[in-house]
Amino acid sequence: MQKTTEKKDTDLNDIMTMADNPEVIAFSGGLPDPALFPEKALAQAYQKAISQDRGVFQYHSAQGNLQLRQQLANRCQKDGQINAQAENVLITQGGQQAITLIAEMVLSKGCGIAVESPTYLGALNVFDQYQPNYYQIPLDENGMEIDKLAEQLELHPEIKLIYTVPDFQNPTGTSMSLTRRKQLADLAAKYQVYVLEDSPYRDLTYTGSQLPTIKSFDQTGHVIFISSFSKILSPALRTGWVIAASDVIGKLTELKAASDLCSPEITQRSICCYLTDNSLDQHIAQLCQNYQKKQKVMLGAIKDYFPSWAKATSPKGGFFIWVELPEKLDAGKLLIESVLPKYQVCYVPASAVYAGASKKNGFRLSYVGNSPDKIVEGIKRLGTCLKHV
Ligand code: PMP
Repeated sequence: MQKTTEKKDTDLNDIMTMADNPEVIAFSGGLPDPALFPEKALAQAYQKAISQDRGVFQYHSAQGNLQLRQQLANRCQKDGQINAQAENVLITQGGQQAITLIAEMVLSKGCGIAVESPTYLGALNVFDQYQPNYYQIPLDENGMEIDKLAEQLELHPEIKLIYTVPDFQNPTGTSMSLTRRKQLADLAAKYQVYVLEDSPYRDLTYTGSQLPTIKSFDQTGHVIFISSFSKILSPALRTGWVIAASDVIGKLTELKAASDLCSPEITQRSICCYLTDNSLDQHIAQLCQNYQKKQKVMLGAIKDYFPSWAKATSPKGGFFIWVELPEKLDAGKLLIESVLPKYQVCYVPASAVYAGASKKNGFRLSYVGNSPDKIVEGIKRLGTCLKHV
C-alpha cells in the first residue's frame, strides 16, 4: 500500500502536551519509570569517569569511545548472537539519531520504504522528511507478514529500506517469529535492500529467552541493527548504538561527524564505568519484574473495565499494549473525549502510528510509567469513556 501525504491527525507534540497536565493519567508516553533509574550507580560512574581523566571534557572520535564500542560488541555477541567487533559499532545520541543517520544514508525523495503497519511514530517523523513512498506491511501475532513484504519487494524495486521493530514492537508489543527473522534476512540479501532492525525493547524480555536478532542471520551486510540505553538505563544518557558491516559504519560515521562531531565523551566513559562496576543484567531483571507486574495489572483492569469488543495484545516484554477497536471507531476522536475533565486519561491513537494516518481504530497504552493504582484508575476511566461512544 502506498502512502498518501495526508498529515497525521495527532502528532507527538500534541500527545506530549496532553500528558503534561498532572491531572491527566497518561498512558501515552514511552517513558521509563523514573523510580527505577539507577541514580546512585550512575552518579558514581560519572564521578569515576571524571576523576580518571580530564579527557572526558574533550572532543573525541565521531565513531565513539573504543572501550564502550568493545563492551557493546561483546554484549551483542552474547545476547544477539551477532558476530561484531568494536569496528562494527557506532555510538549515537540515542536510537533516534541512529534512525536519522541511516535514513540520511539510504533514503532520497520519492524512494520506497517498507514499514510495519503500524510502526514507531518517531521513525515515521524521520522518514517523512524524505517524502518517500511508504509500503505498509501488515503485522500479525508473529510480526511483519513476510510474504506480503516479499510481494512488495518484487513489485517495487524502488524500495530501499525495510524498517522493523522485531522485539515487543512499538506500538503493538508484538514480536517477530524466528522463521520470519531468517526469511527477512534472506529477502534483504535477495533484493539488496537494507533492513533497519530497531530493537530498544529487546532486553526487556519478561519470560523465556530472547530470539536471535535478524542481524544474526545476515550474510551480506544488509541488516543494520540499532539499540539504545534509553529503556534499560536512562533516556537522558542519549546514548544508542548501531551494529553494522564496517563499510556501513564508515558511511554513518561520516554523517554523524557532519551532524554533531561526536557524542559526549563524558557520558560514554561514564557508561563504561557503570558497565564495569555494576551488573546491567541484574538491573534489567529488576525492570522486567516491575514492568511485568504493571502489565499484568493493566491487562486485568482492561478485562474488568473495557467493553469486550476492545481487543488488547498481551506481549511478553517491552512497554506497550495495543488495543484494537471496531473499525467504525476513531481513536483520535475518542482521545479528544478521553482528555476531558470527566475522564482525564490519554494514549497514542492509531492515526499517529500508521504511515499516512491510514487506520484509526486502535490505540497504544504504555503501562511502565504509572503506579498499579493509577493504572487501574486510568483504565477504569478509559473503559467508561469507551462504553459511552
Ligand atoms: N526506536 C523505538 C522503537 C523507540 O520506541 C524509541 C523511543 N521511544 C526509539 C527508537 C528512540 O529512542 P532513543 O533515541 O531514546 O534511544
